[in-house]
Amino acid sequence: MSIISDIVESTKAIIKGMSVTFSKIPKEKWTVQYPDEPVTVQPRYRGQHLLHVDENGKEKCVACFLCAAACPSDCIYIVAADDPRPYEERIGVDNRYAAVYNIDYGRCIFCGFCVEACPKDAITHGYNFELSVYNRADLLKTKDDLLITKQKQSPNYRVAWADEDVDSEYKVV
Ligand code: SF4
Ligand code: SF4
Repeated sequence: MSIISDIVESTKAIIKGMSVTFSKIPKEKWTVQYPDEPVTVQPRYRGQHLLHVDENGKEKCVACFLCAAACPSDCIYIVAADDPRPYEERIGVDNRYAAVYNIDYGRCIFCGFCVEACPKDAITHGYNFELSVYNRADLLKTKDDLLITKQKQSPNYRVAWADEDVDSEYKVV
């Protein structure tokens, strides 16, 4: 290919690219002023997991390991324990509970398989997406980080109403 045709092709490519850029400039911008304003997430959003409790505050997890078995990233670590005390006194809904329940967010891909696998509705995805840390070790979340009664919720997000569209790719801008 000659130098002339090289220049012509390069110029055409630049004009084509810049035409896309210039076509966007007059359009209305949609910018989220995070964290000054809360980000709106869809109800189906998969954020940091929540471990649930029943109406009496007993942990729902019975340490059956089904979530860990379903996890393709092998990032759930559970230690099961027995608590033979009567329901009123024990930690969980059942005699068996998770003494340790860790999720390594350095490996989790937020696929939701663990939630699907759980027969007790003990684990769901919450909405917290603020998982950035300076130290990889801090990506390991323990039961205290995951329990719905203990997990600190960020004020930097809100969950959209069911009929509210917040997907930027579908938004007319
Ligand atoms: S969301 Fe997926 S990768 Fe993350 S802990 Fe659950 S099963 Fe594992
Ligand atoms: S979270 Fe659910 S699936 Fe996982 S160990 Fe507990 S009860 Fe079993």
